[in-house]
Amino acid sequence: MAQQDLWLSVLKRIRPTIQKTHFLTWFQNTSLIENKDGVVKIGLPTTFAHDWVSKKYDVKIVQALKELDESVSEVKYEIRGNLSEKDNKDGVDVKSLLKVQSEKKVRKVRKVNQVKVKKGDNKGHVTSQMLNDRYTLNNFIISTENSLPHAACKAVANMPGGIYNPLYIYGNVGLGKTHLVQAVGNQILRNFPDMVVKYITAERFVNEVVDAIGRRHMKQFKAQYRNVDCFLIDDVQFFARKDSSQQEFFHTFNELYDNNKQIILTSDRPPSELDELDERLTSRFGMGMVIELLVPSFETRVAILNQKCQEYQVIIDPEVLHFVATNVDSSVRELEGVLKQLVADYQLENKVPSIRSAAEKIKKLNKAKDIIGYDIEKRGVEQAVRTSNDVMKIVAEYFDLTVGDLVGKDRHKEIMIPRQICMYLIKNELNHSYEKIGTEFGGRNHTTVMHACNKTSKQLQKDLKLVKDINAIRREMGF
Ligand code: ADP
Ligand code: MG
Repeated sequence: MAQQDLWLSVLKRIRPTIQKTHFLTWFQNTSLIENKDGVVKIGLPTTFAHDWVSKKYDVKIVQALKELDESVSEVKYEIRGNLSEKDNKDGVDVKSLLKVQSEKKVRKVRKVNQVKVKKGDNKGHVTSQMLNDRYTLNNFIISTENSLPHAACKAVANMPGGIYNPLYIYGNVGLGKTHLVQAVGNQILRNFPDMVVKYITAERFVNEVVDAIGRRHMKQFKAQYRNVDCFLIDDVQFFARKDSSQQEFFHTFNELYDNNKQIILTSDRPPSELDELDERLTSRFGMGMVIELLVPSFETRVAILNQKCQEYQVIIDPEVLHFVATNVDSSVRELEGVLKQLVADYQLENKVPSIRSAAEKIKKLNKAKDIIGYDIEKRGVEQAVRTSNDVMKIVAEYFDLTVGDLVGKDRHKEIMIPRQICMYLIKNELNHSYEKIGTEFGGRNHTTVMHACNKTSKQLQKDLKLVKDINAIRREMGF
């Protein structure tokens, strides 16, 4: 690499890590004077720039230089006053660099976010597909079953276009394929902010081809893949029997592959089983690394549920989570779906998730499913508690108190908390009004009851023991 090109490449690399104004101030009219025997000499136009750059940016410069030229071992800085002279052309004009950068950025954003269809086109044509930053490698729970796919994705994110190219991930629906590929895309953008990452589902790709053919925009269509550094294509099984799209994809694939660009594909089956795809394609899919995403074990499913609870900021009785993990065993998406519904009931209607409510959600998802650990039909006919007095009896017994204690005036914690829990349960399970409950509790004011219910709801958000107590009592109540 010519000296000045090398310096330009260094500056391009470090530019995103330095504030624009600082970059303009300190690197204007700088130059790479010499690159000999592993020693690089950088010329700086002023003493000030010399002191500042050598102190503040030395590490970045050395690192970038080493990445670009392995032989570099040392960097020296020298003051060269002539670099700032008007007619001197040796120094770099960093403003031009910024311009290139910002143009590139615009291009990148457009590529990543994809061109939106022109205004007025409301036929539901191809629009954008973006990476969702919810998907990261960190929030993908690694289990023994899926440590390999995760490790491969991590390796690709650290070195796109390296040995795992193409990376082909397959597995049943809802096991995390989309999560993983998008996570790689997000991580690559984090590691290499200048790279252009494109994510698209095969279905969307087919629609785009159809659209481009219809509008005779094939050239533009092809062009959009030219600058891509990392191409993520989801659910390639969708290409089955779509011959023109396959052909188009074949060209795109080859061009990117030949230029050492990273390609990641996902599918619901291994390449060898993609019967309805052109063999030229499927054989290429298998050229790099092919890995299967497996169904997570029970322990992993519980770990996933725990993590999602943290994300939603709710505490759910571990027994309920175990119950869900036992009964939803083939798809992480379904696992998450059941949890989301439970959380929604909880947050919107104050219904504490229980085994019963979880069983109902699971049954709704799959009517034919046998539910382990809970008999919905039997429970359904069983008489659930109907009166306040029944609830009081159960709560009193649970806490080793008497109904008299609950409705009485004693304000000790040991009695007051069960009293508040009891009011909460009557309100939420029997739907009695605050006034009615007040009367039932020895003629208390409705605001007292309201306060008790609110306090209990709030406490449920942070107190696991309370969550468990309430669930145990509700089970006694037949709910
Ligand atoms: P697929 O593309 O294989 O059908 P997705 O990637 O859409 O599946 O995953 C379904 C849901 O499950 C997503 O919300 C994803 O975040 C979640 N998920 C799947 N596997 C894991 C995991 N190991 N850790 C955390 N979340 C996961
Ligand atoms: Mg998917």
